[in-house]
Amino acid sequence: MVLTQNDFCIQGCTCGKSHLTTIQKIVIESGCLTALGKHLRELGYTQKVTAVYDTNTYTASGLTRPAVDSEIILPAENLHADERGVELLRGKLNQPQLLVAIGSGTLHDIVRYCASQLNIPFVSVPTAATVDGFASSVAAMTLNGFKKTLIVQAPVLVLADLAVISAAPRHLVPAGVGDMLGKFICLADWEVGHLLTGEYYCSYIASLTRKAAEQVLIGADKLAAKDVDAYENLMYGLILSGIAMQLAGNSRPASGAEHHISHLLEMGVLQHCDAMHGEKVGVATLLCSQIYHKIAQVDDISGKLVPYKPISEPWIQEHFGRLAPEILNENHADCLQKISQEQLLKSWGGVQDILRAIPSPQQLSDVLVKLGGKANFKDIGVDCSLTQQLISLSPYVRNRLTVMRMLRILKIEHLLE
Ligand SMILES: [Zn+2]
Ligand SMILES: [Zn+2]
Repeated sequence: MVLTQNDFCIQGCTCGKSHLTTIQKIVIESGCLTALGKHLRELGYTQKVTAVYDTNTYTASGLTRPAVDSEIILPAENLHADERGVELLRGKLNQPQLLVAIGSGTLHDIVRYCASQLNIPFVSVPTAATVDGFASSVAAMTLNGFKKTLIVQAPVLVLADLAVISAAPRHLVPAGVGDMLGKFICLADWEVGHLLTGEYYCSYIASLTRKAAEQVLIGADKLAAKDVDAYENLMYGLILSGIAMQLAGNSRPASGAEHHISHLLEMGVLQHCDAMHGEKVGVATLLCSQIYHKIAQVDDISGKLVPYKPISEPWIQEHFGRLAPEILNENHADCLQKISQEQLLKSWGGVQDILRAIPSPQQLSDVLVKLGGKANFKDIGVDCSLTQQLISLSPYVRNRLTVMRMLRILKIEHLLE
């Protein structure tokens, strides 16, 4: 499959914006990496090319390394998208003109961040279908211990070589699927935010992403059978979700309550968790689906409304410790204030409809289990007794309206039963 800007960019969308991306070409095909030079020339890039690998991807099965001007190999062990990762790469760069990230989501974030700082183009070459960040215009960086999504540049070209991706270790697949299943939650959060506060929403971008997530949901059997078309579908969904963030101008179409739980764990607030990003998002998605369906069952919320109270500073300090100043700063203008009780009562039927449309926890869990993935907190090494705290703390990772955050003005009992 070869995609160009014409396949998803539109001028004058019904939402009032034009949706553009700087990604010029996306190729999802077996063997496409060997044609890196040809693709770059066709797009008019004649600069010197520096390929960046990590020690795992340099020798990945199915990978034929393309001819480039220079190669950099970062140590895969303990490589994170943080200050150290950025310094490791910056220390090896010698007047680079164009960077090619050949590897994981983490490697992509480091390369993307450096390319943005240096103001040079970069090319994305995912080596496994693990995460939706490859084609995005944001880098998920941990700076000063705080997980942040920074707006940076998107790749100019994406080469998803299915010969490499389908040969990647099997346990990586459910991570990518988990990141995709999370879209059902964040799209619901976005739609609810729009319904209750009039927040900007684009039904075109939402439907692009939802369709891609549905393809992954219904394609799980084929993926379990290692069908190459199913890998193409999963990779397409992950790339598209990344593009959706660029089309929207922020990560709203790709990240909601489920990602906030994952980010909280990545920041090591309650517990340190080494599981892959998509594994955490997958498990968090199951929890969100369970809670959101439970909330949707409540037809009359009139007796469950709690008056809005500002976020308690001592409470944030107690739970977030050294990260408290950042958290307080992030939530300075608490987005929850924008919801009035009248609006919530008036629109409740609409909220219920949005939440009911999310696939059930059983359906989502079946997909992850079928693929040998992790389907509960214990599987990813997180103590199950922390679930309630994950629910109450995670919304503050990002000042973004989610149904999870609304639980502060909506008291619904027995959410975990
Ligand atoms: Zn639009
Ligand atoms: Zn993600």
